[in-house]
Amino acid sequence: MFSRKENNQEENFERLRLEMVQSQLERRNIRDQRVLEAMGKVPRHRFVPERLGSEAYEDHPLPIGEGQTISQPYMVAIMTELLELRGGERVLEIGTGSGYQLAVLAELAREVFSVERFGPLADRSRALLRELGYRNVEIRNGDGTLGWPERAPFDGIIVTAGAPRIPPPLVEQLSEGGRLVVPVGEERHQELCRVVKEGGETRKEYFGGCVFVPLVGEHGWDTA
Ligand code: SAH
Repeated sequence: MFSRKENNQEENFERLRLEMVQSQLERRNIRDQRVLEAMGKVPRHRFVPERLGSEAYEDHPLPIGEGQTISQPYMVAIMTELLELRGGERVLEIGTGSGYQLAVLAELAREVFSVERFGPLADRSRALLRELGYRNVEIRNGDGTLGWPERAPFDGIIVTAGAPRIPPPLVEQLSEGGRLVVPVGEERHQELCRVVKEGGETRKEYFGGCVFVPLVGEHGWDTA
């Protein structure tokens, strides 16, 4: 049970969250109603350090420890929308970080998996998602540029760190008709790329510039 003070705080966060959905997402043309609903529901303030809770619904990324960041809400919405989830999918995320993007995916797909390079971030996110009641989620500590072969194939794969090139294992682990969303480019600036696998062939589309922390691993950058 929440105390009255905590209740007030939760109501305040809910108001900020709905404002975020309207002003940062709907107004900027996020159209997928399921994405808007999911982001109106997931308590983003629980995924940032407590002292930054009041900034959780603002229009920018925030630090989450280990030199990493939780993405700006709009970026989470765009990348999620590009996966075109309908509810029955198996989805893999590379770069669990705070676990926020994974919670949004867990609202929208049947089973979601995530790989995180930093053990402490993986452990913290696993505990938080469990506490929030997500049961369709599995998190592993390791190098996500190799994907998660034991759980493949995936209908959607989303990479939430910037890659120097598209990691081949991720394309291999896509199912027929599956979509991979990945920021690709330089260390400090990338283009958001979507790879669609159709009839054994892959098609690439680009959706503009973005800035992510580096994807570090065998098919990523050498160092952070
Ligand atoms: N999706 C996260 C944002 C993560 S920031 C969220 O919603 O909070 C990017 C994350 O990618 C960082 O936590 C970083 O440690 C992780 N990362 C970088 N390279 C990786 C790799 N090769 N495998 C798995 N995780 C990686």
